[in-house]
Order: sequence, then C-alpha cells, then structure tokens
Amino acid sequence: MTATLIDGKAIAQQVRTEVREAIELWVAEGGRRPGLTVILVGDDPASAVYVGGKEKAAHEVGIESAVHRLPASASEEEVVALLHELNAEDGVSGILLQLPTPPHIDGAHLTTLIDAGKDVDGLTPQSAGLLAKGLPGLRPCTPAGVIELLRRHDVVMEGVEAVVVGRSDLVGKPVAALLLAENATVTLCHSRTHDLPAVVRRADIVVAAVGRPEMVKGDWIKPGATVIDVGINRTDAGLVGDVEFASAVEVAGLITPVPGGVGPMTIAMLLRNTLVAAQASAARLQTAS
Ligand code: NAP
Repeated sequence: MTATLIDGKAIAQQVRTEVREAIELWVAEGGRRPGLTVILVGDDPASAVYVGGKEKAAHEVGIESAVHRLPASASEEEVVALLHELNAEDGVSGILLQLPTPPHIDGAHLTTLIDAGKDVDGLTPQSAGLLAKGLPGLRPCTPAGVIELLRRHDVVMEGVEAVVVGRSDLVGKPVAALLLAENATVTLCHSRTHDLPAVVRRADIVVAAVGRPEMVKGDWIKPGATVIDVGINRTDAGLVGDVEFASAVEVAGLITPVPGGVGPMTIAMLLRNTLVAAQASAARLQTAS
C-alpha cells in the first residue's frame, strides 16, 4: 500500500484564498480592515526573513501589516510600553513579538502581555487556558494547521485513537487539546513514554512533533493510519521530518510530506487568526457601545 499524500502547500493556498475573499467581503460590508503588527527587536537575519514573509503574506490577503523595528539596544521597558500601546489600539487586530529577542529581553515573558484577543500566535497562557477549557479563543497556528489538514481530507477524528508524539507548549499539547475537542481519544507521548512504538501502533491518527529526524518508523504505523509529520529537521540529506517517510508511506493511508506538509499551514492559519481576531474585536466593540 502506498499512502495518499496530503498536499499542505495546496491546502494552505486554499486557506489563504478563502481568507482573502472573506476579508474583501468583510471590508465591502463596512468592516474595518484587519491589521497585523509585528514587533522585531534587534537584527537577527533569520527573524528579519520570517517577519518579511509574514508581512508579504498579510499584504497578499488584504491584511494591513506594520512592523515595529526596534534596535537591539532597546530596553525591555520600551517593548512593554509598545505592547501596551498596541493592545489598546483598535486598528491592531493581531500582535506578534518575533522571537528570539536579544538576551537582555525576556521574550517568552513579554509574549504573555499580549491581549488574548490579539494573540494571533495563540500561545499566551490566556489562549492556552481558553483552549484547555474548550472556550472560544485564538488557537496556535501550527496545531490549528494540523487539524485543518485532517478536516480537508475528511479524516474522521471523532472516537478514533490519536497519538501525539511530543508535548511542547508550541505543538504537542495544543494539538492534543484540539484533537480532544474533535472527540478523538488522545494519547500524548513524550521522552519518558514506555514502548513508544507500541503506543503509536494503536493510532488511527499519528501526529509527530519531536524534532528528531525520522524517529517514527514505518513499522510503528498501523496500516491505513493518517500520519501528520510536524517535524522540520535540517540534515546533510536536506530537510526531513520526524517520521521516516520512505517506510511510513508504504503503510499509512494518508501522510504529509516534509517539506510541503504542515509547514505551509502555519502562516495560512496566522492570516486566518488575524481575520478572526478583527471580527471578534468588532463584535466586542459593538456589544460595548
Ligand atoms: P520541542 O519543544 O523540542 O519538543 C519536543 C518534544 O518531543 C518534547 O515534548 C519531548 O519530550 C519529545 N521528545 C523528544 N525526544 C523524544 C523521544 N525520543 N521519544 C518521545 N518523545 C520525545 O519541539 P517542538 O517545538 O514541539 O517542535 C517539534 C518539531 O516540530 C521540530 O522539528 C520543529 O522544528 C517542528 N515545528 C514545525 C513547525 C511548522 O510550522 N511546521 C512549527 C513548530 C515546530 P519531553 O517533553 O519529555 O522532553
């Protein structure tokens, strides 16, 4: 058996088109154009490239984007003041603090200051709490992208065994919470899990988010299972995932390639979150007035 590939690039493009159309309609009906503001502190070249990519993607779907570029010498107090200012600004629907920040600035802590209604990365403790409680909120982009890939392939989540390998706040935990919200029976594995291959073999849906090249082998996969590989590992052989693709593709029913699987979904879901944040904020303002 050879698995069907899940084309994350094509699905991400569909999501972007839908977001662009939804924004056009929203603005045509009098809604305020969504705005995404990124704070970039310092001159880390990789961060500058990521921020540039987000700006371009936002522009393409009709989101107004602004980047506050602060010098590496900026103080933590300056960033805090800017965050408070942006939290209070109606035209700003979403705020991102690009990490890593320079060593004298505690980026992880500052991220927690972002208003939950503008937390388009979905990673603040407030957003994590809303997700854990099953309350409406902005969901983390990569995990939301995983669920979107499953939905678009009509993968049944309700009642099935889903095994998530990796329990990071960024990926594993929120993926598990989102699968639970879809009524899957979820097992969350980590580095202390006993007999990981046996646990993964139970899974109808496997999500690998470990950061170890090709750790999950084909003979760990239940025949016909859906395999979502979140891993991005740079090796001498190029980019590989956390799943050994060559062996897993022979056993799985559906599988994401790396690259071109989960990766492209992250920015697509960020754009969608920015629209959702803008619409939710407009609804709150209307209720308050
Ligand atoms: P992370 O914070 O390093 O977490 C890795 C998790 O894997 C931890 O929970 C760890 O367990 C677990 N783990 C490590 N070794 C293990 C083993 N031998 N057996 C079982 N579990 C093991 O990584 P992350 O941020 O979640 O990222 C995971 C991967 O996803 C990386 O390759 C990253 O590049 C990729 N990623 C991709 C995207 C995207 O857009 N596609 C976005 C984010 C991340 P413990 O908790 O016990 O240590």
